[in-house]
Formats: sequence, C-alpha cells, structure tokens
Amino acid sequence: MSETQYLAAKTIDEAVTAHSKANGSARFLAGGTDLLVQIKSGIKKPKLVIDIKKIVELNTIKEVSDNEFVVGASVSGANLNRNNKFTKLWPGVIEAFRLIGSEQIQGRASLGGNLCNGSPAGDSVPALIAAGCIAIIAGPDGKKEIPIENFHKGPGKTVLENGEMLVSLKFPKREINSSDAYLRMTPRTEMDIAVVGCGVNITLENNVCTAARVSLGAVAPTPLLIKDASDIMIGTDLNSDILDKVANLCIKACNPINDKRGTIDYRTKVAGVLLKRSVLIAIDRIKGN
Ligand SMILES: Cc1cc2nc3c(=O)[nH]c(=O)nc-3n(C[C@H](O)[C@H](O)[C@H](O)COP(=O)(O)OP(=O)(O)OC[C@H]3O[C@@H](n4cnc5c(N)ncnc54)[C@H](O)[C@@H]3O)c2cc1C
Repeated sequence: MSETQYLAAKTIDEAVTAHSKANGSARFLAGGTDLLVQIKSGIKKPKLVIDIKKIVELNTIKEVSDNEFVVGASVSGANLNRNNKFTKLWPGVIEAFRLIGSEQIQGRASLGGNLCNGSPAGDSVPALIAAGCIAIIAGPDGKKEIPIENFHKGPGKTVLENGEMLVSLKFPKREINSSDAYLRMTPRTEMDIAVVGCGVNITLENNVCTAARVSLGAVAPTPLLIKDASDIMIGTDLNSDILDKVANLCIKACNPINDKRGTIDYRTKVAGVLLKRSVLIAIDRIKGN
C-alpha cells in the first residue's frame, strides 16, 4: 500500500506549485470534513495531501471597502458566523452554511471545501450563486476570477485544473434595502443532504424589486442560477401572481434525479415551494420584520 505524503503549505505559491508538480495525484485539505471521509472510505487515494489552513490569505475575512467582503476559502463556518457585520449583510449565506453538519463539523468545514467538493447538493452553493459571489482562483498561470454559477461542471467536477486552488470568495458590495435567504428540504431535520436547496437575493426600492438572483441546488447535475426566474421579478412588487410565475420557471429549470431520498416529481414540486418561501423571508429581512 502506497503512503500518502502530507504538506502544510504556508503560501499560495507553495501550495499551487506542489499541486501542479503532483500531476493530478494531490488534494488540497481545508477542514477535511469531506476529504478525510473520502480517503478513509477509499473513494479518493491522493499521493499528496496539501494542508491549506495555514495560508493566511485563505483564512482571513476582509472588509475590502464599506459593506464589501472577501472571505478566504478555508475560513470555517464557526469563524464566519462570528463576524457580526458579515452575518448582518448576508443572512442567507450564513443560514446555508450553518446547515452544514453539526457544531463539530462547523468548527472545521469551509465555504471553499463545500464549493470545491463539487456536490450538486452542497448547501452553501445556491446561497453563494444568489449572492453574486465570485471565486478567486490561483494557479500556475496566476490568478483568475469566475462567477460561482460557472464553477461546477458536473457531480464532483469543477472548473479547477491541475495546480489550481480556490483562494477566496468575493462578495459584491451589499446595497441598502437588499437581503437574502436560503431554505433546504431534507428528509431528516438534521445531518442530512438537501433534496432541494433554494437561495434568493433581492433588492427592493419603494416595494419594487430592482435586483434579484434565484438559485437552486440538488435539482440538476450542477447548482443552477435561474436567470429567467430572476429577471421577471425585477420591476414588480413580488405579489403572489408574480411569485407563481417565478416558481413555475424554477420548476421548469429542474432536471433532478430519482433516488431513495426524493423522486423527480417531489424535488421539482418542492423547488417551487422553497422559492416562494425564500423570497418572503428575504422581503421580511429587508423590511426588518
Ligand atoms: C457529518 C457530516 C455532515 C455534513 N453535512 C453537510 C450538509 O448538511 N450540507 C453540506 O453541504 N455538506 C455537508 N457535509 C459535507 C462537508 O462538511 C462540507 O462540504 C464542507 O463544507 C467541506 O468543507 P471542508 O473545509 O471540510 O472541505 P475538505 O474536506 O477539506 O475539502 C473538500 C474538497 O474540496 C477540495 N478543496 C478544499 N478547499 C479547496 C481549495 N481552497 N481549493 C481547491 N480545492 C479545495 C479538497 O481537495 C476536497 O476535494 C457534511 C459532512 C459530514 C462529515
């Protein structure tokens, strides 16, 4: 049996170079709540594990200008949750992240790990897509930026190539009169994977929606930004007729699997229900209810 080597990288360069040289046989280690389970069960057999938790930039939450945050890829759920300003600005992202596992898992699990694991059901992903978040990636050719809705290529697959590492997540400047929400449906109330996840992010001016982003998880091979559903909300007061139309567009966009945890019909129907509920929560948050 071949041994797995361990490297605790201190800089982005060191991590990227080591990953690149390993030619596909290395894995980055953030909280390890996915990776270590996969290694233990034999699903993944990396020759090199590169610990990235010691790289300062990956473990920092920065307010780069007023109401504009960049969150390091390895920041744990527990640490993000302790940032009062971020929590106030992005309650939907926080509630999505807080659904991941338990208190113990939250102490380790990162947004970056949730994203890079590539699961279509990762809870934080629809919330990040709805937020309009951008992935900052470092690789052998330097840094690049990709919107989160373009980050996944299929179950377990992302745009990251050999040597590329997610460095941080850039959130847009939070406008006033905006808020977000995330809801998921699971067969069990705790410690389960979403059968459907729905993230919404809206702005209201004088009760009229001026910006909207809707995202669904676990209903297709990748998490989805539902562009047409988002667009028809703009210029409306989000009344129940509009929300019916938005829900129908969400339902149309679904292309889920049938499995023991939810049928195609069930997942599709639930997507419409979660959409309406998430929008109402975001509206309440904007109005301070
Ligand atoms: C008991 C339990 C309950 C869970 N419940 C949920 C749940 O309810 N919802 C949910 O969505 N998930 C859940 N998970 C899965 C897991 O906790 C999350 O996906 C978590 O966010 C992963 O983060 P991590 O930092 O531990 O990632 P890791 O395990 O360290 O990494 C995950 C993957 O991403 C790669 N990676 C990590 N960081 C980077 C980076 N910066 N750049 C490139 N690649 C990177 C790793 O190589 C690995 O392939 C659960 C896991 C457990 C064990």
